[in-house]
Amino acid sequence: MSFNTLGLSADLLRAVSEQGYSEPTPVQRQAIPVILQGRDIMAGAQTGTGKTAGFTLPLLQRLNSRSQCQGRRPIRALIMVPTRELAAQVQESVNTYGKYLPLRSTVIFGGVNINPQIDQLRKGVDILVATPGRLLDHVGQKTLDLSKVEILVLDEADRMLDMGFIRDIRRIIALLPEQRQNLLFFATFSSEIKRLADDILDSPETIQVTRQNTAAENVSHVIHPVDGSRKRDLLTYLINSQNWQQVLVFTSRKHGANRLAQQLDKAGIRATAIHGNKSQAQRTRALEDFKRGKVRVLVGTDVASRGLDIEQLPHVVNYELPFVPEDYIHRIGRTGRAGHGGEAVSLVAADEMGLLKDIEHLLKRALPKVVIPGYEPDPRIQVLPAQNKNNRTRGSKQAGTVRYGAAYRGKRNTVNRQTRLGSGLVQATS
Ligand code: AMP
Repeated sequence: MSFNTLGLSADLLRAVSEQGYSEPTPVQRQAIPVILQGRDIMAGAQTGTGKTAGFTLPLLQRLNSRSQCQGRRPIRALIMVPTRELAAQVQESVNTYGKYLPLRSTVIFGGVNINPQIDQLRKGVDILVATPGRLLDHVGQKTLDLSKVEILVLDEADRMLDMGFIRDIRRIIALLPEQRQNLLFFATFSSEIKRLADDILDSPETIQVTRQNTAAENVSHVIHPVDGSRKRDLLTYLINSQNWQQVLVFTSRKHGANRLAQQLDKAGIRATAIHGNKSQAQRTRALEDFKRGKVRVLVGTDVASRGLDIEQLPHVVNYELPFVPEDYIHRIGRTGRAGHGGEAVSLVAADEMGLLKDIEHLLKRALPKVVIPGYEPDPRIQVLPAQNKNNRTRGSKQAGTVRYGAAYRGKRNTVNRQTRLGSGLVQATS
């Protein structure tokens, strides 16, 4: 199937073909004709599925085909996204696909001076890409008018809800005209998403390009059990021995991200950190350096992970498991993209086994566990004495979930950890 059959105008098809896309992705095939008809959609589509073009192309076409008001341009399309990085990337897509159309766009997000944004808005834009917090700052300062919005896009809506933006989103929606088209995108379906959809969408077409709560299928997962104190050494070993050239590493805290990036750098592996405490300029530079191969490892927190558009990222490492199991899916959404295989590697200490169980429960399958020789977890850590009958009962149950034996691409030795532990039992609480 080609893009020509979707009903897009010549100007848009030209921009698409300049990107080198030969055929539409599944979400584009399904979403574009429906959006062109003016209908609402709710689409389950992760980053990497081509969803941005899926809503941007028909949105541009609809705005361009309808007459524009005379005088100052009102904001006619509002695209809300959770993070600054995603905002910048979505606006880049709007510019790329809309390069032959006379439509103007701008992007607003926090962490940078508000005045240039006010200047941009004053000049008039057709399409506004924004994060909710800064958008409300502008509303408070009366520097934008949302009363002429025709199309609302909530991109990565589940993430916006996770980040606590629901009240902001509802406040913003209350400022929009009732008559409008709504496009809701999310990676993971939940009851909150359902509630939001019920409230704002009008007879939506439902599109699902990935199964609910499942990770991309071209990603292989592996768990390396290891003591917390040895994770850094193991990561260094893996990067060097496997010759990984581009690795995205997740930590749970900003300080941990900074420290790990510095330590890797010291060990001769060029690394940088990306997280919410960094200025926008620093975050943009870190991402650019990573994309260009100037740094080999990008260490980030979950907030930074959303919307990173890095093609063909081969390795994602969970240095620490996420507290929310859905974040595991979001994190590994950075790898195995657009048809390329990827590897999601998690370094898991004994006290994270509960988090791992939650992730496996969400994925509805056990993930292969491989102990790397030389980095075996210390069996004395959190081992319950066998003679304690009460603990033993509990420990037995937990230890049953920690059986290591899956082959790892046939290359590595596998270890049955229960054998190593002898009569000791692991207390795998979270
Ligand atoms: P997204 O899911 O919107 O973040 O897009 C993921 C990546 O896929 C981006 O780098 C796009 O440039 C790329 N992409 C979007 N549509 C297509 C397509 N039809 N064919 C090939 N690549 C695409």
